[in-house]
Amino acid sequence: MVAVELCSGQLHTFTAKAILFATGGFGRMYRITSNAYANTGDGPAILARRGGPLEEMEFFQFHPTGIRELGILISEAVRGEGGVMRNSQGERFMERYAPSLLDLAPRDLASRAMMTEILQGRGIRGDRRIDDYLYLDATHLGREILDTKLPDISTFSKTYLDIDPAEQPIPVHPTTHYAMGGIPTDVNGRVRAGAENTFYEGLYAAGECACVSVHGANRLGTNSLLDLIVFGRRAGRHIAEYVGQAEMPGIARDEADPAREKIDGLMHRSGGGDPHGTSIRETMQNLMTEKVGVYRDEEGLSAAVRELKELRRQYQEVRVQDRGAAFNFDLLEVLELQNTLDLALITAGSAKNRQESRGAHSREDHPERDDENWLSHSLAYLTRLFWDRRPLSRPPVST
Ligand SMILES: Cc1cc2nc3c(=O)[nH]c(=O)nc-3n(C[C@H](O)[C@H](O)[C@H](O)COP(=O)(O)OP(=O)(O)OC[C@H]3O[C@@H](n4cnc5c(N)ncnc54)[C@H](O)[C@@H]3O)c2cc1C
Repeated sequence: MVAVELCSGQLHTFTAKAILFATGGFGRMYRITSNAYANTGDGPAILARRGGPLEEMEFFQFHPTGIRELGILISEAVRGEGGVMRNSQGERFMERYAPSLLDLAPRDLASRAMMTEILQGRGIRGDRRIDDYLYLDATHLGREILDTKLPDISTFSKTYLDIDPAEQPIPVHPTTHYAMGGIPTDVNGRVRAGAENTFYEGLYAAGECACVSVHGANRLGTNSLLDLIVFGRRAGRHIAEYVGQAEMPGIARDEADPAREKIDGLMHRSGGGDPHGTSIRETMQNLMTEKVGVYRDEEGLSAAVRELKELRRQYQEVRVQDRGAAFNFDLLEVLELQNTLDLALITAGSAKNRQESRGAHSREDHPERDDENWLSHSLAYLTRLFWDRRPLSRPPVST
C-alpha cells in the first residue's frame, strides 16, 4: 500500500496483514451535495481500477432539503417541527403527492415531488430548469422554537444565505446525500471479489464506502449508523481474528514506482491540458446533477456515459500547476478528480443498466418497479465496463 504524506509530498509504502477501507461516500461527483469535500470515493475507486466489482451503484439517495446551490443539509427536524415546503404559488405541494404523510414523506418521494414541481414550472424562478428551487417555510414556528430547537438551521440560513428563517422561507433543492452502493462486502466487512462467494484475502471495507446491502435501494434516516457501529464493529472483530493466523506480506522494492510515475506525470506534463482539471470537474458535476439525478431516462443516461468516457479521456491530459512538494492540494484534488470520474461513470452506467424504478433510482422511461426482471443486486466493473445482475440471496448471517 502506498500513501502520499501531504505535509511533505513524500511517498510511504506500508504492508499489513489486513486493510480496511473506510473512506466514506462519494457525493462530490455531483454539483449539489451535502457531502464533505473529502467524500470523493477514494476506496471504491481504487478497488474499481484494480478490477474489483462495485455493488448497487445506481442507488444514490437525494435528500429533499439542501440549501439552494450549496447543498448544505437542512435537517428533517425542521419539517418534524412543522416546517412546510411551498412552491412559487405558495401551495403546500406535498398535499398532492403524499396526502397523509405530507412533508414527512420518505426522502425519495419528497425529492421527486420537488423535482416535479420545478420541472412543471412551479419552482420559485419558474424556468423549469433542474437547478430551480422551492421554499421551506418555518416562519410560522416562531423565533423561540427556531432558536431553541433548531439553532443550527438558523445559523446555517443566516451564515450561508443571509436569511433569518423566522422572517423568510429558506430556498431549498434536493441534494445528493448518501451512497447506498459501494464496495461489496459480507456482514464481516470482507470485500467480495465477484458474484460468487469469493473474497479478496485480507481486504475489508466498512461505513458508507461499503455496500453490505442492508439499505436496499433507499436508506432510511439515521440508518447509516448500521454501517458504522454494527458492520464496522463486526469487521474489526473479524480482522482481529484474521491477523492472528495470517502471514505478513512483504514489500517489493519497486512497490511505490507506479504511484511515483503517476504523480510525476501529472506534475511535469506539458501541453494544453486542463490545469487542475477544473473544467472537467465542473462538467462532470453538472452532468451528474442533470442526467443522473432524481429523475433519469435512457437518453440522458446514455449521454452521461458517453460524455463521462470523454471526460476520462481528457483527464489523461490534465496538468497539476503547483509543482511544490509540501501541502500540494492541487495534486490532491487532481488525484481525487480521477476517483470521482471513475465512480461517476460506474454510477451512470449502473443507472442505465437498471431498467425499472426502485427506491432512490427513478427512471421516467421505466416508472414501475419490476420484481420479475430486476429483483436482483447489481455489480459493475470499471475495467471491463460491464454490468451484471446478481441473484438476490446472500449467504446466511452468522453471529
Ligand atoms: C450533512 C449530513 C448529515 C447526516 N445525518 C445523518 C443522520 O442524522 N443519521 C445517519 O444515520 N446518517 C447521517 N448521515 C450519513 C452519515 O453521516 C454517513 O453515512 C457517515 O458519517 C459515513 O461515515 P464513514 O465513517 O463511512 O465516512 P466519513 O464520516 O465520511 O469518514 C470518511 C473519512 O475518511 C477520510 N478519507 C477519505 N479518503 C481518504 C484517503 N484517501 N486517505 C485518508 N483518509 C481518507 C475522510 O477525510 C473522512 O475523515 C449524514 C450525512 C451528512 C453528509
